[in-house]
Amino acid sequence: MSLKYQVVPVTSFSQNCSIVWCDETMEGIVVDPGGDIEQLLLVIKDRAIKVTQLVLTHGHLDHVGGTQSLSKRLDKVEIVGPHQDDNFWLQGLPEQSQMFGFLPTQAFEPNRWLNDGDVIRFGHESLNVYHTPGHTPGHVVLHNEIARLAFVGDVLFNGSVGRTDFPKGDFETLINSIKTKLWPLGKDVRFVPGHGPESTFGQERMSNPFVADKLS
Ligand SMILES: [Zn+2]
Ligand SMILES: [Zn+2]
Repeated sequence: MSLKYQVVPVTSFSQNCSIVWCDETMEGIVVDPGGDIEQLLLVIKDRAIKVTQLVLTHGHLDHVGGTQSLSKRLDKVEIVGPHQDDNFWLQGLPEQSQMFGFLPTQAFEPNRWLNDGDVIRFGHESLNVYHTPGHTPGHVVLHNEIARLAFVGDVLFNGSVGRTDFPKGDFETLINSIKTKLWPLGKDVRFVPGHGPESTFGQERMSNPFVADKLS
């Protein structure tokens, strides 16, 4: 197995940006470069990773705020995702940055939207894409079957689930996404959430007050 990753918490929201790469070719991707791109560039340079794509789980500012500047600093590397249903969040970035007291952030569109069933490839590695609406309508999560590893953005947290009180957020839809898209991947799958410590799907199915098996 040659899939490696390093989590770098960025922005005042401590958003878990993940740098993910193939250890054989050193090709890699950056998942959710929300900000603090100098810090991200240091890790990328230190490990000598050839970044081929910036991949976005959803359109919230703390997940996408550094995308355009990081792409520019990495020879205009391709921006991929989220699902098109999050376009209104990306187009609303100027308002989001004002609301959260971030530096002014311009609206943008990715080079390519993602859909359920898409595969993101880098080196000898790949991540499968699942469309998981609820927190935002265009949220996607990424999963590698061999590594038993998922990057789930703000869908699921260690002990909690994503907020659903935003425009086009919906609690029932979120719980359904977790149970029908994440749980079938296996209890042993470890996940990196958008904020806070890692966990496994099995652990959350046991003790997460929002989605534990005993509740259903
Ligand atoms: Zn979010
Ligand atoms: Zn977030």
